[in-house]
Amino acid sequence: MTMYLGADIGGTKVGVSAVRVLESQLEIVKTLSELTTISPDPNALSLQLIELTERLMGDVGETDFSGYGISTFGPLIDGRSIDNPSNLTARGIIPVVDPLYNRFQIRTVMANDANCGALAEYRFRTDQNADIQNLVYITLSTGIGGGFVNKGVLIEGKNGNAGEIGHMTVPVPPYFSKYELDPRQCGCRRISCLETYASGRAIQEIAADLLERRIAKSGSLPKHWNDGRFRTDSRFDRTKITTKDVFEAGRNGDWLSQEVVDGAIDYVAAAISNLINLFDPEAVFIGGGVARQDDYLFGPLGNKLYPLPTLRKGVYVGPSQLGYDLGLVAPFALLLPDERYSFSKATQN
Ligand SMILES: [Zn+2]
Repeated sequence: MTMYLGADIGGTKVGVSAVRVLESQLEIVKTLSELTTISPDPNALSLQLIELTERLMGDVGETDFSGYGISTFGPLIDGRSIDNPSNLTARGIIPVVDPLYNRFQIRTVMANDANCGALAEYRFRTDQNADIQNLVYITLSTGIGGGFVNKGVLIEGKNGNAGEIGHMTVPVPPYFSKYELDPRQCGCRRISCLETYASGRAIQEIAADLLERRIAKSGSLPKHWNDGRFRTDSRFDRTKITTKDVFEAGRNGDWLSQEVVDGAIDYVAAAISNLINLFDPEAVFIGGGVARQDDYLFGPLGNKLYPLPTLRKGVYVGPSQLGYDLGLVAPFALLLPDERYSFSKATQN
C-alpha cells in the first residue's frame, strides 16, 4: 500500500487530500479545504498549502507519503510556479512546487487543472471511459480550459500550458452587431478569445449587458428578469445574475437569454469540432460548472458539431462521468504509475 498527497488549487477554494493506493484501487482517505488566501504576498499560497497539509497529516496520523500532486489554475512556469494568475490577489511569480518539496521532501509535481482533468479521465476508470486511449477534456466554468491525452500520454507543452483553448481567438458572434455590442476583451487582455463569448462568466456578463441596454432603451425588462431577485433597492442589479439564471431563463422561453446561450453553444460546438479534427480522439469529455446544465447544453451541442465525418464517427461527446469527483482525483493522475485505477472514498470523520 502506498499513500499520496494531492492539492487542488482553485480561485475560490484550496483543498488537500490524502489517498491510499493498493494495486489499482485508489481510496480517498481525507480531504481538507478552505478559502484560497487573499493575501498580496506571493508566498502566501504555498504557506497556506503547507499549513493545510500539516493539519491533514495530523488528522490521518501518517507522515510517510510517496508523492505530492498539485492541480492548479495557470499559467505555469516550468511546471513549478504560477505566473501572475488572475485568480489570486498576489501578483508576480507564485512559487508552489519548491516550497512544498523543501518542507516535505517528497516528489512534487504540478499541472494545470484542465491537463490534470484530461489525465484523470484516462487514469480513473468509469463505465464510460474504460477502453479509451485518446481523449479531449474541456472544462466549461468561469473560464474555458482543455487538455489532451494521446495514446495514454498527456500533451503538456514546454511549460505545462498546452490546451489553453479558452484563449483561441474567434470571430465576434453574429448577434453582437444586431445589439451593437463591442467585441469583448479577455482577462488575458486580448480581444475576442473563445472564453469571452462562451464561458460561464461570458454568458452572465453578455446577458447583463443586454438587459441593461434593454432598460436604457425601453425602461423595462423582459418578464423573466422582472423579479425581486435581480434588484437592489428596487433597481436592476447586474451582479445578482448567475450563469444558471441565464440558462434557466432561456429554458423558460426568454429569447434574449436563448440568444446568449445559443451563441455560447455554437462556439463550444465549433471549438469541439476543430479539436476533433486536430486530435482524432475517441471521446470529448466536458466538465466544469456550465456542463451541469445537462440537456439544455448537450442536446443542442450534439446537433451543432461538424468535424470531418470520418473523424466524427463513434466519438463520444458529453459530460464527464467523473463529475464532482474529478477535482478530487485529478491531482493524483500526475503521480501514479501508468495504470488505470478505480477509486472510492473513505467515510470522513
Ligand atoms: Zn484570452
